[in-house]
Amino acid sequence: MKPKIWLSAPHMGGNEQHYVNEAFDSNWVAPLGPNVDGLEQNIAHYLRENTSVAALSSGTAAIHLALVMLGVQPGDEVICQSMTFSASANPIAYLGATPIFIDSEPETWNMSPVHLEAAIKDRLSNGKKPKAIIPVHLYGMPAHMQAIMEIAERYDIPVLEDAAEALGSAIDGVKCGTFGVMSVLSFNGNKIITTSGGGALVAKEAKYTEKARFLSTQARDAAPHYQHSQIGYNYRMSNICAGIGRGQMEVLLERVAQRRAIFDKYEQRYSGHPGVSFLKEPEGYSSNRWLTTILIDPQQAGINRETLRLALENDNIESRPLWKPMHLQPVFANCPFYGDDCAEKLFENGLCLPSTSSLTDSDIERIFSVMDSVFQHELTIVGGR
Ligand SMILES: *Cc1c(COP(=O)(O)O)cnc(C)c1O
Repeated sequence: MKPKIWLSAPHMGGNEQHYVNEAFDSNWVAPLGPNVDGLEQNIAHYLRENTSVAALSSGTAAIHLALVMLGVQPGDEVICQSMTFSASANPIAYLGATPIFIDSEPETWNMSPVHLEAAIKDRLSNGKKPKAIIPVHLYGMPAHMQAIMEIAERYDIPVLEDAAEALGSAIDGVKCGTFGVMSVLSFNGNKIITTSGGGALVAKEAKYTEKARFLSTQARDAAPHYQHSQIGYNYRMSNICAGIGRGQMEVLLERVAQRRAIFDKYEQRYSGHPGVSFLKEPEGYSSNRWLTTILIDPQQAGINRETLRLALENDNIESRPLWKPMHLQPVFANCPFYGDDCAEKLFENGLCLPSTSSLTDSDIERIFSVMDSVFQHELTIVGGR
């Protein structure tokens, strides 16, 4: 069996171990400490001056706390992009609220501003004002934030930006993770940089990150004994994980450049094939290209995304269909959905390709030789008809 090529594997920079050792040497083996403070500063500095950051145990935890702080209660409604990873929507359900799912737009594959506004109008006419809007920058491509923010402001609904896949992306130089009232980052093992597992809450106003630090350490009131007047959570990042994160922040820009170079290689080689397309950056948009994705139109290409996925799997190469939209998931079957079939079609025809920043030339050759054989094979059959 050939060695496995993963979709998106961790890629250490070199200094991670140094920060982790420092934590051991000083016995800061705790969910707090100098690495946590250091990582928060590194992220804030990268995103923008005057941004505040709270490092947490996961991106999912950050979404959960953000919704708590926005006052989401049982029976409330929260608008969420349908085409996303389930972690964008699960915390809505944790709070007993209902997700209202919105279709994608073809330009970015993210939340359609048109369907967003239609949904808001319809919910308002039903007598319910949504408590928040959660757009996502899928695979690193920024959502259409200008239109989404404009609609959110017009209807006075806060935006919680799910930037879990988009650290390193930007629109006109404004970085993803700084658009929302609050924004969420993830450092899970498969993301562009990792703390093995972890996440962060980002906010313009420090009151939110201060509150997140309080809630994520069990909501302890100031007293010598344990005193609580609110429900708390155990969601803080550990000083060990934060040490990995500090090392990873040092190589973030390198990782973005590497992922973008991988995208270019796939795009250059396969965009000429009939029925094959890649997601382009709209004017002014910059994607970190966390995952390279390919769309295959079965009518024109003569093969479908499953043909390619299975051929790769057969060579021990991991790929994955695009995220299955939440409105098509059994667990969210009863939730309202606004849109048509954009996200559904993307799911049917799209595949995420191996995009690890440490892919070697020989890994890429191996992937290309499988892909060549799949596409060439069909070309010969089509030509022979
Ligand atoms: C990874 C991810 C999350 C959750 O982050 P975790 O750190 O894994 O909890 C949320 N939203 C999106 C879009 C993600 O890709």
